[in-house]
Amino acid sequence: LRVLLVGNGGREHAIAWKLLQSPLIEHIFVVPGNGGTATLQKVTNVSSIKQEDFSALARFAKDNDVNFLVPGPEAPLVAGIVDYFKREDERIRAFGPTEAASRMEGSKTFSKDFMRKHSIPTAAYANFSSYDEATKYIETITHDVVIKASGLAAGKGVIIPQSTDEAHAALKEIMLDKEFGAAGDEVVIEEFLKGDELSILSFSDGTTIRSLPPAQDHKRIRDGDEGPNTGGMGTYAPTRIAPPDVVDRIHRDILQPTIDGMKADGFSFTGVLFTGLMMTESGPKVLEYNVRFGDPETQSLLSLLDSDLAEIMVACTKGKLSEVEVKISGKSAATVVVAAGGYPGSYAKGTAITLDPVPQDVVIFHAGTSFTENTLKTSGGRVIASTATAATLEDAVLKAYRGVDCIHFDGMQYRTDIAGRALKSKAG
Ligand code: ATP
Repeated sequence: LRVLLVGNGGREHAIAWKLLQSPLIEHIFVVPGNGGTATLQKVTNVSSIKQEDFSALARFAKDNDVNFLVPGPEAPLVAGIVDYFKREDERIRAFGPTEAASRMEGSKTFSKDFMRKHSIPTAAYANFSSYDEATKYIETITHDVVIKASGLAAGKGVIIPQSTDEAHAALKEIMLDKEFGAAGDEVVIEEFLKGDELSILSFSDGTTIRSLPPAQDHKRIRDGDEGPNTGGMGTYAPTRIAPPDVVDRIHRDILQPTIDGMKADGFSFTGVLFTGLMMTESGPKVLEYNVRFGDPETQSLLSLLDSDLAEIMVACTKGKLSEVEVKISGKSAATVVVAAGGYPGSYAKGTAITLDPVPQDVVIFHAGTSFTENTLKTSGGRVIASTATAATLEDAVLKAYRGVDCIHFDGMQYRTDIAGRALKSKAG
C-alpha cells in the first residue's frame, strides 16, 4: 500500500508507527506530519499541502501512486474528504466515513436524533435553533443540564452550567455572541449525567464492528481533574470500569445498533467509530460519537493491537472486517501527554527538545513537534507523549512515566496522576 495519512497529531504518529509493522505498507505520506513522523523510515512528511485542500491532496495522491487514504482528524471527514476522493480517483480506497456518516460527529443535534430514533441509550435532550425557544426551555426544566454547540468546536463547545443564570449566559455565548461560529447555530440542551466516563474505539466496515479495549481519557490540564479542559492529557486501557461482560452488553445494546442504524438510514459507516460513554446508575449511556481515532486514546490502544492494522483497514474498506482478526494483547497500556507551559492557554513554540533513549516497551509519540535542520522543537500545545505497555496497569503507568523522564524541554508540564483513580480504587 502507498498511504496518504492526513494529520499532524500524536494519533497520526501512532497510526503511522502501527501501519509500518505491516508487510503490506510500501510507503506513507503524512500531510503534514510532525517531528516524529519525520524520522520514520518509509515515511515522508508533506508540509506543502494544506489538509483542507482536497484537490491538492488528490493531485498529490495521483502523482505519487497513492492507493490508500487515511484521514486522521474529524475536520476533513466532516468536510467530505472521503466522498471527494471517491469522485476524483476510484483507484484509491479510503479508510473513513463519508460526509453523511460523519454527521454523527459533525452535528450533535443530528446524532442525538439518530440515537432517539434507534433507541440507543443517551441523556434526555432537546434541540434548538432559536435562541428565544432555548431560553424559554431553560426556565421550564428542573434537572441539571449540559449545553452543547451542535457543530465542531474542538472539544470546547460543551458547557456545564452551575445555575440557571449560567445556563442563560452559555446560550447567549453560543447562539448570540457566536463564540464557536456557525457551530453554535443549533444547540443541544441535555440532562447532566453522573458516572464514570470511558471511550470505546471500534473498527467497522458498515456491517461488522470490532472494538479495541475500553479506554479512559484525562481531559483536564492538572492533577485531580483540576483546571481547564484540554485535548487530552493521558489515557490508559483497558479500564476496569467496564469489565468484559459490560463491554459485551455495550456491544449488543449500543455499538451494533449504531452501526445497524447507520446502515438502515442509508449512511453505512466505514472507519473507526469512537463512542464516548457515561456509566450511569441506570447503565451505560452515549455522550457522543466521534468518527475517527481519538487522541491520545489511539496511542495506548494501537499499542495493544496485536493484529496487522493495514489488513484491518483494508478489510473495512472492502466490507470484509469479519474475515480478518482483530487480536488484542492481554496487556495494559498507558499514555502520558507532555504539554508546553501555558497550554491550554497561550504557550511558546520553537523550544528545543532533547530526548534520551527510552526503556523497553516505551514508545514516544510526537504531536506538536517539528524536526528541522536536525533539531527537534516544539510547535504546538500538546507536544509529545510517552506510551508504555506492560502486563499490569500499574507497571504500564510506571513505565510511561519513565518514558516521560527521557523528555526534556523548558516549561514542559504533564499530569502525574494518569490512571491514578483506577490504581487507587484497586488498592482501596
Ligand atoms: P470532545 O470532542 O473533546 O470529546 P465534544 O465537544 O465532542 O468533546 P462531548 O464529548 O459531548 O463534547 O462532551 C465533552 C465532555 O463534557 C464529556 O467528555 C463529558 O465529560 C462532559 N459531558 C458531555 N455531556 C454530558 C452529560 N450529558 N452529562 C455530564 N457530562 C457531560
